[in-house]
Amino acid sequence: MVRERRALTAGLAMLVAVAASTACGGSGSAPAPAKTSSAPASDWSAGRSHPVADDMYPQFGDPATDVLHYGLDLKWDPASTVLTGTATLAVRAAEPTDHFVLDLAADMSADSVTVNGAPAADVHDGDHLTVPAGRRLPADAVRTVVIAYHGTPHLVPAPMTRPDVPGLGAQVTASGAVWAQQEPYGAFTWFPCDDQPSDKALYDVAITAPDGWAGVSGGTFLGRTESAGHGVYRWHQPNPVSTYLVAFAVDRFQQDSATGPHGIALTYWYLPADAEAVHKLTAQVPAMISFLEQRFGPYPFGTAGVLFRPEMVGMETQTMITFSSHGAAADLLHEFAHQWFGDAVTPTTWSGLWLNEGFAMYAQRLWQAAQSGSQTTTADLLLRGDQRMDQPLRSGDGPPGHYLPTHFASSNVYICPELMLNGIRTALGDTAFYQLLNDWVHQHQGTNQDRNTFAAFLDAHTGRDFSAYVDAWLDSPTTPTIQPPGAG
Ligand SMILES: [Zn+2]
Repeated sequence: MVRERRALTAGLAMLVAVAASTACGGSGSAPAPAKTSSAPASDWSAGRSHPVADDMYPQFGDPATDVLHYGLDLKWDPASTVLTGTATLAVRAAEPTDHFVLDLAADMSADSVTVNGAPAADVHDGDHLTVPAGRRLPADAVRTVVIAYHGTPHLVPAPMTRPDVPGLGAQVTASGAVWAQQEPYGAFTWFPCDDQPSDKALYDVAITAPDGWAGVSGGTFLGRTESAGHGVYRWHQPNPVSTYLVAFAVDRFQQDSATGPHGIALTYWYLPADAEAVHKLTAQVPAMISFLEQRFGPYPFGTAGVLFRPEMVGMETQTMITFSSHGAAADLLHEFAHQWFGDAVTPTTWSGLWLNEGFAMYAQRLWQAAQSGSQTTTADLLLRGDQRMDQPLRSGDGPPGHYLPTHFASSNVYICPELMLNGIRTALGDTAFYQLLNDWVHQHQGTNQDRNTFAAFLDAHTGRDFSAYVDAWLDSPTTPTIQPPGAG
């Protein structure tokens, strides 16, 4: 998620004062194209996860439920603002159980529920849908759960203090469009799901909308077909995705197609009135992807794109970023960085949000410095500015590894871990540092990770003991003074 704009201050102001200086090195070699799945549609083993109860927001998600694949057949009616859907879920029992618990907003009516074709006596209580499995299932048993539902989506309250996020989930606009922003949860406002980061799944999404409207999600766009005055837009996600990273919008979009570095297929979706501002941003996207690949290795997916909204939003929805038409280029770069940090490798639970935002913020600072033409010196100045924010952020929002649950995505999880990473870079040197982050992503692609696995990886990769350093940066209520091992 993009950082709140009002906090973007100290470091940026120093940019103008900087004179040209040295450049920091990227590898410069052309990365190989990202692999895409060639598995048959019925092989959903890549959607297998190890779900856990979330440590910050345990009210959503079920550790016994592992959704392998979502087949969403959605129809949007802009006139009535009713979303009608059929969700076909391949669900694995992650542990022995006689039922699955899914999240589905109370606003949505579950019209019928079947399990392996047999009607199920579901219970829809508040935002939870309990589906009896028919009998007690052993671990690893897989059932096909089909839920027909309809309703008008509404935002749910966000556990945040940020004024730029009015709520979570799908929202309907005055013109009859619908679009979603759902971190840390809220996908359940538009489809039944296991709404927690640790349950990644594969997706096939079909969105039906009247002529003149387009339905956008993530993954590979398989094209539009015509059906009785409606268009059907089909999307296929070949890589596992957490629910908060699934893009969704239906509006009167125009589409552009382009080609990125080494042939990455790019698609952009935007309102015609925003074309000029959008094209200024999209012209920079290939350079953004190259910039990130030079530091963090190949772009981790086969396709990329941006779904532009007139509203204020910056969300790293996987392979199809949801972003303001009039947003800043550095913020768009931030969302692209998340494709490596957050999307390819995703926190197991929300206490690991710093694993997303610290890394994306660091990449954003590097980009901002490069734009100034004076990379190393400027990055140091930007980071020195951020250093002054560390203590007030810890005091106001909590340390980044233990933020206040009602302060989700405050600047502490961006700035404080960014400074921690910079300390690791200082200790290792640029070459070893970027190789570390490259390996972190590409050795864990498609998985969920947490602070323990990151710390263990850091130590194993470097042969040094960073544990006290990492613990201090993530847990201390005051700005750490500890030096990383081998610094200086
Ligand atoms: Zn972010």
